[in-house]
Amino acid sequence: MKAGSGMRKAGLLTICAGVLSLAACVGWHDDAPVVTGQPTTAVEASQTCDHAHTGPHVALRLPAPEGGWSGAPQAVVVMNTFAGSVDIRHGTRIRCGSPEDARSLDSRFRAGVGAVIVPEAGDTAPIEVGFDDNALPLWRPIVQLGEPAPIQRADIARFAVRIASIAVVLTLLVSALLAFFATRERAFASYAVAASLFALWQALLSGLWAWPRPWLPVAGMTVQALVGLGLGMAGLTTSALLRQSGLRRRHPRLDRAATWGARGLIAMAVVVPWLPVQAVAGLSVAIELGFYLLCLAFAIAALTALTQRRGDGLLLLAGVIPFLPIAGLQAAWPDALALWKVEAFMLAGGWLALTCSMTLTLRLGRLRRQRDEMRMLAQTDALTGLPNRRAALERLEQCMADARDTRTPLTIAFLDVDHFKRINDVHGHETGDRVLRHVARALRHAFRDADHIARMGGEEFLAILPGAEPVHAQTRIDVLRVSLQDIGSALGIAGLQVTLSAGVSALHPLDRDTAALLRRADSAMYAAKRGGRDRTETAAAAVA
Ligand code: GH3
Ligand code: MG
Ligand code: MG
Repeated sequence: MKAGSGMRKAGLLTICAGVLSLAACVGWHDDAPVVTGQPTTAVEASQTCDHAHTGPHVALRLPAPEGGWSGAPQAVVVMNTFAGSVDIRHGTRIRCGSPEDARSLDSRFRAGVGAVIVPEAGDTAPIEVGFDDNALPLWRPIVQLGEPAPIQRADIARFAVRIASIAVVLTLLVSALLAFFATRERAFASYAVAASLFALWQALLSGLWAWPRPWLPVAGMTVQALVGLGLGMAGLTTSALLRQSGLRRRHPRLDRAATWGARGLIAMAVVVPWLPVQAVAGLSVAIELGFYLLCLAFAIAALTALTQRRGDGLLLLAGVIPFLPIAGLQAAWPDALALWKVEAFMLAGGWLALTCSMTLTLRLGRLRRQRDEMRMLAQTDALTGLPNRRAALERLEQCMADARDTRTPLTIAFLDVDHFKRINDVHGHETGDRVLRHVARALRHAFRDADHIARMGGEEFLAILPGAEPVHAQTRIDVLRVSLQDIGSALGIAGLQVTLSAGVSALHPLDRDTAALLRRADSAMYAAKRGGRDRTETAAAAVA
């Protein structure tokens, strides 16, 4: 009944949605363009440039080429400063901005603070660039000078890569949350937490947190937030990554070390905002180098496992592999890496998050299969391979609900082997088992595929016949009786005779649960026993 009303509701909703969309298309259709906005008198207020670099800062002079500037416009962009402010000046012209607020940026540049300067032809004054030191020794600021159009195109490409990387992580985050709500599996929740920290870290690293206006309360503390989030992520994921690599299983002592290490990292993450800048800078170097070493260790562990033909951590190997060339470049060619390090980290991190999500899904699939196998075993009778009593009762309940919903008949038959104890006594328990297996096979053949056969215990069986009347059940049982006639020769036991007594009952509209239906079939079966065995009795269609 419930399913029926649910379907009716869904149907009604579909019709309403259809009518609404039709009305939207027909009634409210208009060809006129949508005009929005209004005339403005405001002139974009670029930053006033009255700030002073209070902390450590960098002052660069970009000298004019020999013979002076050509008179062509020059684009200057300063990227990866993360915090503070940037000023770009030439003569009396000055442009200021802060990576912490997109509203202060020249709208022609997105990935950094930029300006286009047009020095007069022959002018030899250098372009001066000043910015606050970002306090992250391994994340070097980039200052780019050149023709505006290609620089702007590269800037847009960089911005697009940054947005795409963050979008991948956000998608993984949403799918992990959905998976958590669907399965209640804690691993998905932990993954979602780690993914959200990573997305925030990416936003801070790429400056996207300042677009279109700052949306994180970290102004002035960007570097601390970056390092704190890095520590937090390391703390939350180390254990999971160790498990994923298979290292934890092979070296159980690592487990405790990892637990304490993780707690230490999380504690450090919490205190980062109160640490002096030098300590934060030191920490940032330490976690980055630690991370490279961890990637190397995971890669070696996975490769060792592979040479020993174990599949452990293959996905993790795939996940950490992009960080190995990054680590190599950091060691051997830091200038080259610095140019695309933010994008490289965002892409490689997104890829690692993707492989971790894949591992999680695979692990869940494995657990599901194990659970299904356990459930199968818990619902199967070991001797005959038929569903057991518990499964039979569940199936009967389901069939009853279906029969009511579809208003179709349902019949069940209770079957009990006659004098089975005697078979055991005469031929031995072993033969008794063979007889039970044979009867189970014969039952499967005698009934339709749509019927359900189960062993209720001992030498008792139940047949559920959806859509059938008692007379159909009687016909099936007659077929069964015939097939059991030659059991002696089939099992090679001369003189073995096996008969059954059966009780048949049909679902009555007033039956409230399976118990009444089963009781009637059971009583009918005992009536068959009392009537001399080897026969079928059908219960009267009255509610017991
Ligand atoms: P009735 O015709 O009245 O049903 O008599 P019966 O002997 O078949 O019934 P009873 O309940 O007295 O005995 C059932 C016997 O089935 C007793 C038990 O030892 C035997 N049995 C139960 N499970 C198994 C089994 O898995 N294997 C074997 N070989 N025997 C079993
Ligand atoms: Mg019995
Ligand atoms: Mg019996």
